[in-house]
Amino acid sequence: MSKKLAFGLMRLPLLDPADTTSIDHETLNGMVDRFLAEGFTYFDTAAPYHRKASEAAFRECVAKRYPRDAYTITSKLSMFSMKEPEEVAPFFDEQMERLGVDCLDYYLLHALDKDECAKAERLGAFDFVLQKKAEGKIRHVGFSFHDTADVLDDILTRHPEMEYVQLQLNYIDWDSDNVQSRKCYETCVKHGKPVLVMEPVKGGRLANVPEEAEALMRQAAPGLSDASWAIRFAASQENVVHVLSGMSTLEQMEDNISYMRDFHPLTEAERDVVRKAAEIIQSKAYISCTGCKYCVDGCPQKIAIPTYFKLVNEYSQYGEPVLGRAKDRYNQLTGKEGMGKASECVKCGQCESHCPQHLPVTRYLEDAARILE
Ligand code: SF4
Ligand code: SF4
Repeated sequence: MSKKLAFGLMRLPLLDPADTTSIDHETLNGMVDRFLAEGFTYFDTAAPYHRKASEAAFRECVAKRYPRDAYTITSKLSMFSMKEPEEVAPFFDEQMERLGVDCLDYYLLHALDKDECAKAERLGAFDFVLQKKAEGKIRHVGFSFHDTADVLDDILTRHPEMEYVQLQLNYIDWDSDNVQSRKCYETCVKHGKPVLVMEPVKGGRLANVPEEAEALMRQAAPGLSDASWAIRFAASQENVVHVLSGMSTLEQMEDNISYMRDFHPLTEAERDVVRKAAEIIQSKAYISCTGCKYCVDGCPQKIAIPTYFKLVNEYSQYGEPVLGRAKDRYNQLTGKEGMGKASECVKCGQCESHCPQHLPVTRYLEDAARILE
């Protein structure tokens, strides 16, 4: 079986924690050496990671230090700030220079959802990557994806030329209504597209699961970390070719290597452990909001109700370690993105009358304000 563990270069070790571009090349060199020595080859980066410094670090720590056939490199066409088709080619050229390679193994249209796909079409991005493939600058084309399975089905139907899909896939989102890992995975299988997995540990949250879930895992396999269950769950899906882990330390890398060096898919008994752990983690969710958004449109205060509930749930499931990140996201939503604050609810009741789960939305918003503001 080919080696499924992939090195995601989005959370690299830093010299100065306050400066995301200050990548610690010496530590990274050590991690790269260990990774390649164990027979793993796949690296994943993108321009926005570490504000372009991730791609540059790849050049210094991998491309300049190893022959081209020793590694596989993936980067992405990030169109977030692009407005005109003319912006695509210079972006790609600069990126190749930053990466220090003549050819990319995989190039993905970055973070497609319904709107971003329409934009990619308008910018001519699908044609552009095919042209670069024909020129020998890209070996395989695909896209990373953040939307529901029906949108994915539509994109793959209209763009059968796309060879790979990068999905958010983890055991907590497997059957969720918003991420829909399982449905998206099955859509890729239906279209015959191999899957690259991102966020197998859900941004680190499944590396530190509640005690009861951890106890189940320890009982089944005393030596294995929480994160190992999440990564092995993703890698166990037959159509998954690589699972990205955004490793920040040599210790994380050694842990990943220890169980991915000689990887075997989860047994039925182990799958059962994961299912039970997922149930325990889900049961810690405080608000049983499904994310359907029926409450959102009529809110006179523009309060992003399900998003705030999701942040509150993450806090109730994973505790203090995720609170800082939840607050940052909340401040971004209520600041730059112009959403109303939870505390600005005027209790008009419109949301509650539309909620199919009959949730006491206004009471939960008071909790959200207390936790997040
Ligand atoms: S009760 Fe609050 S959250 Fe609900 S619609 Fe009215 S203002 Fe918005
Ligand atoms: S309508 Fe209810 S379940 Fe749906 S997103 Fe709003 S609060 Fe959540």
